[in-house]
Amino acid sequence: MIIPKAEGSGAPALGEPLAVEFGNTYFAVRGTRGGIHDALVTPESLAAWLTEHADAFPAGVADAALAGLRPADVPRFAALRDAIRSLSRALVDGETPDDAAIAVVNEAAAAAPRVPRLAVRGDGGLVAYDVADPHPLAALSALAAAAIDMFGGEDRALLRSCGGPGCVLFYVKNHPRRGWCSAGCGNRARVARYHERHKG
Ligand SMILES: [Zn+2]
Repeated sequence: MIIPKAEGSGAPALGEPLAVEFGNTYFAVRGTRGGIHDALVTPESLAAWLTEHADAFPAGVADAALAGLRPADVPRFAALRDAIRSLSRALVDGETPDDAAIAVVNEAAAAAPRVPRLAVRGDGGLVAYDVADPHPLAALSALAAAAIDMFGGEDRALLRSCGGPGCVLFYVKNHPRRGWCSAGCGNRARVARYHERHKG
């Protein structure tokens, strides 16, 4: 497939753990283009997102995806993203996680062989993990593994959904005072509360 040029995925990059960033490829856009957007609808937009987040993947994994992704793979990434959002929502709301969403994550984790190994980076340093057999779905598998780490690990207790007006993003509350996905959402929420108080 063709790696996109300048145009990005449009999805937010909040510096969240990889699984959260991936879940946030379903996002609200403000202004004239407003509404909910999905960054995983075309191979180009998926490739743009993978390019933007390549450094968050195990070495070589994003490159293998960008070199070998087929259009038919896009719905698999979108299904994993939807499953991650479903599990995130259940966790935040204290509800029972959906069995089907768990199955999607586990199937994606097994979609490509992941063989731990040491490799030498371009700068001569070592990387702890690489893909022994570059596989386009190694990125799908790595995203599922990141989700399994998050939902099964300590970040699980810190996962939050943003309460900003119209916002559909999740974030990990990495600071006791953090209440929003971004400063922009915090400001919009304060403005909305102000107008609510001074209405009528
Ligand atoms: Zn937000």
